[in-house]
Amino acid sequence: MDRFAGRTMGVATIHGKERVIGPALLNVLRLRGVHPIAGIDTDRFGAFSGEVQRTLDPLEACKVKALHGVEVSGLDLVIASEGSFGPYPPAPFMSCNEEVLVLYDGRDERFFTHRHIALETVFGGEHCKSWLQVRAFAERMKFPEHGLVVRSKGKWATGDAMKKGITSEEVLRSMVDSLVGSNGSCWVETDMRAMMNPTRMRVIGETAARFANELATACPVCNACWFRVTGTRHGLPCALCSWPTESIRSIERGCWECGHVAFESRPDGKREEDPQHCSNCNP
Ligand SMILES: [Zn+2]
Ligand SMILES: [Zn+2]
Repeated sequence: MDRFAGRTMGVATIHGKERVIGPALLNVLRLRGVHPIAGIDTDRFGAFSGEVQRTLDPLEACKVKALHGVEVSGLDLVIASEGSFGPYPPAPFMSCNEEVLVLYDGRDERFFTHRHIALETVFGGEHCKSWLQVRAFAERMKFPEHGLVVRSKGKWATGDAMKKGITSEEVLRSMVDSLVGSNGSCWVETDMRAMMNPTRMRVIGETAARFANELATACPVCNACWFRVTGTRHGLPCALCSWPTESIRSIERGCWECGHVAFESRPDGKREEDPQHCSNCNP
């Protein structure tokens, strides 16, 4: 499993993501170095604040970004990341952050991918009619550590006023005062670019660490890298009656190269389920 050893990896980012992606991958993959790619324009593939609409799904957008990174840098190993935010499907009153990472290896033109969903997120937007309302929202959104965007309306259109990357109360207040003065209201939202949102930056780092571990896991049959988790099996036995419960019993790993599939027990070491989750003991 020496695919990545001694190679230089480019990070297709203008938002400082190499600060968390680099340390996560460097030693685990035995890379020579990890560097941001200069002169890349990742915003042309879509921006959070709506000036450029996203037309591709996050995984496809990430692949296009990685290929753009190859083109600009001339490197044959480039990683790109893409985040999305919204309600958490199993519990829509909570917000979640899905991060996608794509690593492109130009030697054999292969993509390696990883997805991670985190419930820890600082994400929101509010239509505000006063400075007091803005200040209360900003406090909930952990401002000024987390940056804000202010604009006249919820949906941005060409020519509308907008200010991104606000991290000073003075700047926030003058923008809000001017918009509320002329329009009676303004729209305030979190700036989700990684360098403006430390919570998201941490999630990207966590996603990169998980990705690094999967990339460094070799197939026991053919020794290819990225012997990744491809599924889970239910049926963790009940501690009281041994009935198979709905809880996860084992995880499945699959090899993209030779097709080998293996099952391993839960990484948290749990071997039995509490009888309160058993449909036999607790129907
Ligand atoms: Zn294999
Ligand atoms: Zn039971």
